[in-house]
Amino acid sequence: MDLGIRGKRGLVCAASKGLGRGCAEALAAAGVDLVINSRTEADIVRTAEEIAARHGVAVTPVAADITTEAGRAAVLDALGQADILVTNAGGPPPGNWQDWSRDDFIRALDANMLSAVALMQALVPGMMERGWGRVVNITSQSVRAPIPVLGLSNSARAGLTGFVAGMSRQVARHGVNVNNLLPGIHATDRADGLDRGVSQAQGISMDEARAQRKATIPAGAYGTAEDFGATCAFLCSQHARFIVGQNILLDGGATNLTI
Ligand code: NAP
Repeated sequence: MDLGIRGKRGLVCAASKGLGRGCAEALAAAGVDLVINSRTEADIVRTAEEIAARHGVAVTPVAADITTEAGRAAVLDALGQADILVTNAGGPPPGNWQDWSRDDFIRALDANMLSAVALMQALVPGMMERGWGRVVNITSQSVRAPIPVLGLSNSARAGLTGFVAGMSRQVARHGVNVNNLLPGIHATDRADGLDRGVSQAQGISMDEARAQRKATIPAGAYGTAEDFGATCAFLCSQHARFIVGQNILLDGGATNLTI
């Protein structure tokens, strides 16, 4: 299917690996020129070279922490304007609800709510002026069904979800579609870290921890960054014109919900 976005310009945050990279690969395959970002310079430069070589689009790497004002300024500087924005950042650490301090919450809010809000505030007005734009925020299945040990993530992402629910309906008439993608368990470094947490907490091997988590997924496997990226690219396509303010769960059926 032709996604109809060849020649558009996009920003994908936190994209040297994992889900962000999956989104960058799929957008590049659809012909989108990209600015991609993550903190580790060698990784983001290598990723940009690989994506550009594979898909024949322009890919500019920016090594910066997207959760800081200075990091976002560096990324926006390299970007100029954008037709497509994919927000993403690392997820907060697991823990216990009694232990989280105000500073822990502020860090989580900066990473998983306020940096996405700031990027939308910077880029969506230009999209509205030009009459076309797509925004995909990578959030989490924890928005639909909380994961108790990830209370910092549950809290910050719920805040972003509430913001998007309102603003997506204010900008849609200008041709800008804002939606959220909610990953369940995908085979990335983040999933390895969470598997390790289960393995340590229960005194079981990594393989046993993975098997235990896999058994919770009706589809019978972890998702992949490629699956995730393909859905993101569709949401950024011309075909997604009528999809506004939605929270799309990609979890292999793991969240037990009727709607
Ligand atoms: P990942 O495989 O660990 O990759 C994280 C990527 O983000 C890396 O490229 C990393 O590079 C970059 N990054 C992290 N913090 C950053 C920052 N402050 N500024 C810029 N770049 C940053 O993680 P993932 O699995 O793709 O997860 C992506 C998001 O989805 C996370 O918020 C995660 O919590 C959420 N999620 C994932 C799953 C899952 O199963 N994978 C499920 C639910 C939710 P550097 O370290 O070099 O910056």
